[in-house]
Amino acid sequence: MIEFKNVTKVYEDNGTLALENVSFKINKGEFVFLVGPSGAGKSTLTELIIHEEVATYGEVIVNDFILSEIKKNDIPYLRRSIGMVFQDFRLLPNKTVYDNVAFAMQVIGASRKEIRRRVPSVLSMVGLSEKAKMKPNQLSGGEQQRVSIARAMVNNPPVIIADEPTGNLDPDTAAEIMQLFEEINRSGTTILIATHAKEFVDNMKKRVLAVENGSLVRDEERGGYGYDI
Ligand code: ADP
Repeated sequence: MIEFKNVTKVYEDNGTLALENVSFKINKGEFVFLVGPSGAGKSTLTELIIHEEVATYGEVIVNDFILSEIKKNDIPYLRRSIGMVFQDFRLLPNKTVYDNVAFAMQVIGASRKEIRRRVPSVLSMVGLSEKAKMKPNQLSGGEQQRVSIARAMVNNPPVIIADEPTGNLDPDTAAEIMQLFEEINRSGTTILIATHAKEFVDNMKKRVLAVENGSLVRDEERGGYGYDI
């Protein structure tokens, strides 16, 4: 669950009003696209969710954590409750596919037994069982993104946030990645995807949040992209 209550974000260093009085609530199990022109405030919005940035006014609530009151010791637990996927994959180049995914479990102190059970199962979900021993540079872009999705899922977070996850992929591969997000969503994981991928937003008929100049200008249940590109 992600809730913004009248959230305003001013970057104090340069006085930029990046978000202004933004309110919305995303319930467990929803699939939401976040759209808007460059500079509209999409990254700021996702950074507030993971507490990388802090709201200037208003309240952000994520998976029962009230972020204005969150204790330092709880920040790792907040971050553990959110799987992140990026446009540029951000895999560790010297580790195998298996180890990239296992590493996300190691850092939270999972046992070797849990890791040995869980990693193969997640790699199978993303269709990469055969590539477990390969290094990222031996994989296609789509396969690398699947690894990063496996890594985001491996600790079973209730929420996955993806920032332009198909930005580096050709249209067919992008379609497969979007399909994978839909499958993950079907098992109950909340998905928030910031994207400029107009065709997918228009075709998939999901909830759409649109920000422009820091304001939430649209929140549509089965929305479209709404901009020409
Ligand atoms: P988007 O992700 O939609 O492109 P951003 O959230 O990155 O938009 O940016 C929103 C506004 O905030 C822009 O004017 C941008 O220049 C500004 N901004 C973003 N990050 C910072 C930062 N760390 N410090 C100062 N200004 C920032």
